[in-house]
Amino acid sequence: MSHHTETLVIGAGPAGLTAAYLLSKHGRDVTVLERDPAQVGGISRTVSHNGYLFDIGGHRFFSKSKAVVQLWDEILPNDFIERPRLSRIYYKGKYYAYPLKAFEALRNLGILTSTLCVASYLLARAKPIETPKSFHEWVRNQFGERLFSIFFKTYTEKVWGMSCDAISADWAAQRIKGLDLGAAIRDALKRSLGLRAKQKPGEPVIKTLIESFRYPRRGPGMMWEAAAEKTAAQGGRVLLDRGVDGLSFEPATGIWTVSATRGDGTRETYTARHLISSAPVRELVDAIKPRPLSTFNARSLQYRDFVTVALIAKSQKDFPDNWIYIHDPSVQVGRVQNFRSWSPEMIPDEDHTCLGLEYFCFEGDGLWTASDEDLVALAKREIGQIGLIDPREVVDACVVRQPKAYPVYDETYADNVASVRRELEHDFPTLHLVGRNGMHKYNNQDHAMMTAMLTVENIIAGHRRHDVWRVNEDAEYTEAGVSGAQDALASERLVPRKVA
Ligand SMILES: Cc1cc2nc3c(=O)[nH]c(=O)nc-3n(C[C@H](O)[C@H](O)[C@H](O)COP(=O)(O)OP(=O)(O)OC[C@H]3O[C@@H](n4cnc5c(N)ncnc54)[C@H](O)[C@@H]3O)c2cc1C
Repeated sequence: MSHHTETLVIGAGPAGLTAAYLLSKHGRDVTVLERDPAQVGGISRTVSHNGYLFDIGGHRFFSKSKAVVQLWDEILPNDFIERPRLSRIYYKGKYYAYPLKAFEALRNLGILTSTLCVASYLLARAKPIETPKSFHEWVRNQFGERLFSIFFKTYTEKVWGMSCDAISADWAAQRIKGLDLGAAIRDALKRSLGLRAKQKPGEPVIKTLIESFRYPRRGPGMMWEAAAEKTAAQGGRVLLDRGVDGLSFEPATGIWTVSATRGDGTRETYTARHLISSAPVRELVDAIKPRPLSTFNARSLQYRDFVTVALIAKSQKDFPDNWIYIHDPSVQVGRVQNFRSWSPEMIPDEDHTCLGLEYFCFEGDGLWTASDEDLVALAKREIGQIGLIDPREVVDACVVRQPKAYPVYDETYADNVASVRRELEHDFPTLHLVGRNGMHKYNNQDHAMMTAMLTVENIIAGHRRHDVWRVNEDAEYTEAGVSGAQDALASERLVPRKVA
């Protein structure tokens, strides 16, 4: 027996639930199928372990898009808190404010290294590599070899699992465009002297310099659980434990047939007029029968995966950071989250702390396949080495593996996505791709939501009024599709953009 629905949504993450919430609010018939057997929220879920709450990476709620902020307030009107933001870099036993403060950086690096940094910068400017091909060469040209090795190399290699010599210069140019050392030094000096001017009304918001952010008091999962409940109250269906693995379209009737498999192996069939997919492009295309021509392109898309080890410790040692970037090459951990600083409600009592150690990896590699026991042992050893807590104080731990946390922007991804998009848009006007992995866009919740918001408008209008591919990384939709992106790039002048 098959179930019919007007719109079927694949995935109950921010994109899928935004679409379902808005469609049901407009009285439209919608069903969401989510593979996870127990939770909504996707990568923006909040995990609960013996009363301790933690995110898959901390999730800041910040958007330049008023429409997104309004929707957050509509879905979760009473549960946002405003949190101060503090993050630092840990390198060779020392902490550096992030964004950098000049005097502190000089003090920490010492006269000798600081002088070498300036000398290597001057050398790079005097003798630039003519056509920089790799990330390494590009950054070396901008900052010099020394600063590259301290503030760029190790963290970038941990995140992407590739040597900076193998990452393309285009990627660096795209992510840290406009960054120049002069501006970085000016800002770092002002920060040291406490001279950073307050933002004036109308001035563009500088994303990396935001000093506070909003956060649901019990984590981002709270937002998405509320969205699922409200969708259900409006007549929509959010069904867990259903992994979509087969799709076919009948042009004569305009009907999609979708099959889903449950954890116990049971199969279900759904039919729908519109299909909204936030599933990874690679998986979506693989599920379509007959096979699209661009299957090869979809299969070439790469992902970076992520393991977080939450350590719960009875520790009196407190630190104010929300998170700390671990640039130090002597440990594998890439970042440490301090969940009490995100919200006191993430920790059930005063005596304990919960830190999330983040390891970037590839599905199937040594970290991914290590047993939970080994990962906890590694995390305890490394947290002791960094000195944030004493490993003997750890009383409990939890390991979460997140596949496809990051869509990889390698040299061929843009062409591959373009081929898939061209074919799907041409052959299937009622198939709508939304969200992060759904569009292979390495962006935040607000972007995922905006693509879903515009898709709902398209479905209600009955034609493709908006081109969702024009939503930029700041969740802004512009006809030209670039003005917001340019603001964003300008705003990243002072410091390289860190991975979210
Ligand atoms: C470490 C880290 C930190 C981050 N920090 C921030 C931050 O501070 N602020 C911020 O705004 N964003 C942050 N993000 C980004 C944010 O997590 C994503 O942008 C957002 O979750 C994307 O939403 P989505 O709905 O597109 O995708 P997802 O969250 O990936 O949700 C997709 C859902 O679809 C389901 N699904 C997939 N395939 C199928 C299938 N075949 N059948 C059924 N269900 C399926 C998945 O199980 C999942 O639930 C961070 C991400 C990471 C990895």
